[in-house]
Order: sequence, then C-alpha cells, then structure tokens
Amino acid sequence: MGIFDKCQAFTKADDVKKLGLYPYFHVIKANEGPIVKIDGNDMYMAGSNNYLGLTTHPYVIEAAVKATEKYGTGCSGSRYLTGNLDLHVELEAKLAKFLNKEAVLLFSTGYQTSQGVVSTLVQKGEHLICDKEDHASIMASAIMAKGAMADFVRYKHSDMKDLEKILSSMPLESNKLIVTDGVFSVTGEICNLPEINRLAKQYNAVVLEDDAHGVGVIGKGGRGTPDYFNQVDETDMIMGTFSKTFASLGGFVAAPERVINYIKHNSPALIFSASPTPASCAAALASLEILEKQPELVEKLRDNTNYMRDGFRKIGFEIISGDTAIIPVIIGDMEKALLFWRRLFDSNVYVNAFVPPGVPPNMSMMRTSYMATHEKHHLDYMLDVFEQIGKEFGLLDK
Ligand code: PMP
Repeated sequence: MGIFDKCQAFTKADDVKKLGLYPYFHVIKANEGPIVKIDGNDMYMAGSNNYLGLTTHPYVIEAAVKATEKYGTGCSGSRYLTGNLDLHVELEAKLAKFLNKEAVLLFSTGYQTSQGVVSTLVQKGEHLICDKEDHASIMASAIMAKGAMADFVRYKHSDMKDLEKILSSMPLESNKLIVTDGVFSVTGEICNLPEINRLAKQYNAVVLEDDAHGVGVIGKGGRGTPDYFNQVDETDMIMGTFSKTFASLGGFVAAPERVINYIKHNSPALIFSASPTPASCAAALASLEILEKQPELVEKLRDNTNYMRDGFRKIGFEIISGDTAIIPVIIGDMEKALLFWRRLFDSNVYVNAFVPPGVPPNMSMMRTSYMATHEKHHLDYMLDVFEQIGKEFGLLDK
C-alpha cells in the first residue's frame, strides 16, 4: 500500500455518485454536435468546445479519412525523427499565415504546448509571471520552470496594477515571460491584452498568450484575441489548441521564426513525444480552410451566444457577461449546483457543472458554451428548461 493509501481513502466521487449527482465521465454514444446520445437519450449539448461545429462537417471527416488512408493511423515517432509529415509542415505554414506570425510549431496537445514552450524558454534565474486564473497546463509548466530554478510569480486575476507591481519589483535587465489566457476558460472573460503588452514592453518582458478559446471565436474572421484588440504585432507569442474550433486534437505556438527554431530543437515535449496523427492534422487543416472560406460561421456563433446571453438575462439568471462562446450561469453553493445540474440532465440538457475548488465558494456555476451549428430551436429548448428549473430553485426571484 503506502503510496496507494490516498487512493483508498478518496471517496468524494463515490459519495456524489451514490447521490445520483455525479456530473463527470458520462459516456457519449453518438455525437452530432448540438445533439449527443447519452444513456440512450438525445441530449442538447451546451458544454462542448466544438465552437464552429466542425467535428461532424463532411469535408473535415473526409479529410481525416483520406489522410488515414494515405499515411496510416499514426506517425509512430516524433517530428524530430520519423514522424514529420508534409501535413504537419503544411498546417504550420497555413496557420502562421492565418495568424499573421512568422512561424508556427505543432505539438500533440494544447496541454503539451504550454509545457513545451514555457519550460523550454524560461530557465534558471529568469522570471515567469502568470495570471492566477491561467489554465492548468500553464500552471503545470510553471512547476517545471520552478524545478529548473526559474522564478515563478502569479499576479491577481486580470489585475494590471498587481502585474505592474510585480514587474517593477524585478531588475529591468532580467529576462521575463508573462503568460496569460486570452479567453479565460472558466468564465469566458477576455484578458486585458493591450495593457499586458504595454507593460511587457516597458519592463523588458515578452508575452505568451493562450488563445485556446479565442481562435475561431473572436477577432476578424476568428483570428483570436490579439486580432480582437488589434495587437497581433505587439503579442510576441500566441499558443492554441486544435481541440476546440479546429475539430481535432493537437496544439500550436506561433512566434518569431528564431524562437520557433529554438523551441523545436530544445523542447522535450516535442522531441520525446509522437507527432499529431495524420487524421488530426488533416482535420485541423480542413477546419482552418473552412474558417478562412466561411467567416460567417464565426458570426453565427456570435449570434447564438448573444441570443443565449440575452435569453438568460431576460429570464433573470445571474450570468458572467462577456463576448465569447462561454456563458457561465451562476447557481451559488455547490450542493444546489449539483442538484441543478441533475435536473438539467434529466431534462436532456447537458452542461458542465463547475464547483469548488475549481471556482470560489458560492460561485458554483453551470458553465455553458455554444456552437455555430446550434439552431434556434435548440437554444429555445435549453432556455425553456433553464427557466423552469431556475423557478423551481428560486433563482429568478431576485
Ligand atoms: N489552454 C486552455 C486555455 C484550455 O482551455 C485548454 C483545454 N481545455 C488547453 C490549453 C489544453 O488544450 P488541449 O485540449 O489541446 O490539451
């Protein structure tokens, strides 16, 4: 036993399961995007990151199938050695052009991208400065940087005064990397990128912005947070994922060519891990092509989220406002949130329940997110169900 003792003692998930309130690991047996099959029921999905609904697009599926037929199911090696396909190189070049950056490097997941980039760039004696609410993958890479004797500091969430206080306390000549989510994944808030970039220039820092929830959602034609703020040139590095808008799996970083060249030859996460599968690359490439040819999909997504934001507000729910595809509906304490989630589930609406420690106490929420392929009747059904359950829970009386 010993190291397994904590596993035996961990009963939290079992306790919630016994109450019938467990909101995780539900098995999906079919997925059409807005509608998924769970436990034999057709459920309305408002918890996916399939923002443009491209995971079921015939062109994307065909591209993945054709790539599998041509190259097989996997690359069986890292980019460094035997896993470097023309598809990887093509995707990097097209993405660099789309994002208006010199070069792009692919990783096998977005999570791995954070680790690969941050821990490779920030070394002994250098400073890593993160927002307190940055994604878990960035926090994991910070622990690696700390292990390499880099200095790691977090500023209060979106607090530019705190960021400046931290930067100004460091020697001007010391090397600093600021990492921020572009769109924060829990709340959907957009970071203050212009101010972060301004402070970075003033205090000799460079910026890495994680646009996992920004690309395909905001900015001109879905070009993400830097474009949304007209800050593409000012933002040194942009990273992202293929697991959301791009209907696939994998991650990327866009940066100056010399930086990409350095990461490429020094990042263990890249060198010692197999490259993205042919199907993953081809699906991401096909999605990028659709995004470029049909920017109206981004508009449709925006219309859908605006419709839901207005709908929730009219009904009387407390929501976190924003401009992205994520709408958190605040429920309150954890128990109420789990019960609320269960009632939604029983009414065939699937959302994500976010409870402490992921969110502060009394801020438990139904984190909802939308797709360009949601039709008005899907959205109306979900609003009706929310309203009915909101009334039952006394959430609309305020
Ligand atoms: N960054 C952010 C902000 C994310 O939300 C996510 C995924 N939820 C990731 C990185 C990791 O991406 P991936 O799913 O490709 O590992």
